[in-house]
Amino acid sequence: MEKVILYYAFTPLPDPAAIRLWQRTLAASLGLRGRILLSEHGINGTLGGEMTALKRYIRETREYPGFKGMEFKWSAGSAADYPKLSVKVRPEIVTFGVPDEVMVDENGIVGGGVHLSPQEVHELVEEKPEAVFFDGRNAYESEVGRFKGAIRPEVSRTEEFVAELDSGRYDHLKQTPVITYCTGGIRCEVLSSLMVSRGFEEVYQLDGGIAKYGEAYGDKGLWEGSLYVFDQRGTIAIGEDPARLAVCRDCGEPTSEVGDCSDPSCLRQFPLHRGCTAGCEEHAAAG
Ligand SMILES: [Zn+2]
Ligand SMILES: [Zn+2]
Repeated sequence: MEKVILYYAFTPLPDPAAIRLWQRTLAASLGLRGRILLSEHGINGTLGGEMTALKRYIRETREYPGFKGMEFKWSAGSAADYPKLSVKVRPEIVTFGVPDEVMVDENGIVGGGVHLSPQEVHELVEEKPEAVFFDGRNAYESEVGRFKGAIRPEVSRTEEFVAELDSGRYDHLKQTPVITYCTGGIRCEVLSSLMVSRGFEEVYQLDGGIAKYGEAYGDKGLWEGSLYVFDQRGTIAIGEDPARLAVCRDCGEPTSEVGDCSDPSCLRQFPLHRGCTAGCEEHAAAG
């Protein structure tokens, strides 16, 4: 039985190159494929393979003190979903372009948001109806699914968030309870700390991301639409019959799918049915 695991931990890694060698040898010896990013701030990984091999990987990885309490999320998939095993050291494990602004200690990111479980999010919204959701993903992701009433920044890459926050566009929220959310929780870890350090006074973050919220409430709670995922599945349903919130760039009909620009050299994505084709703003003629 093959599966995929997703995991991350913000913890000080004084020698990420040494961790890389260990992790590479471990994952390769177990026949796992996928991607592991390491930095001085921690680890961010997605691996596919045999369930017994993945369990062995988890046990051995947790032997390292900084990874002891790390949560591993199980998901459908297999080693075949990934072209190879890639283990790299980068300045950041999630690229906001601010490696020197993020501080990490044994407890994770220093000065981040308050973690809330899906249930605690519901309690907070009940207690503080003025609270707003803040989407920590790219605009093409939030187009097909989001929390009701969420603020959706117009960013197409995570690196654009810093300029977006510094633009002053969200300064009116500095005294408002803000709940950040993203796919699995890692992007909000950094985003929340960037908001706190910019004077947002009450910042929360959805623990485990939309993935965990979807398991708890589907689309019967505060979420509507589908979830964009970074693999061949494209988008996955949250709940049994999620609302199709986006409009296909080609045919103009509602869709929950996201597709690529028709220009082969272009990496932009937008709402698009599987059978439809279109170009982005820049490559509109190509569609
Ligand atoms: Zn279409
Ligand atoms: Zn394009």
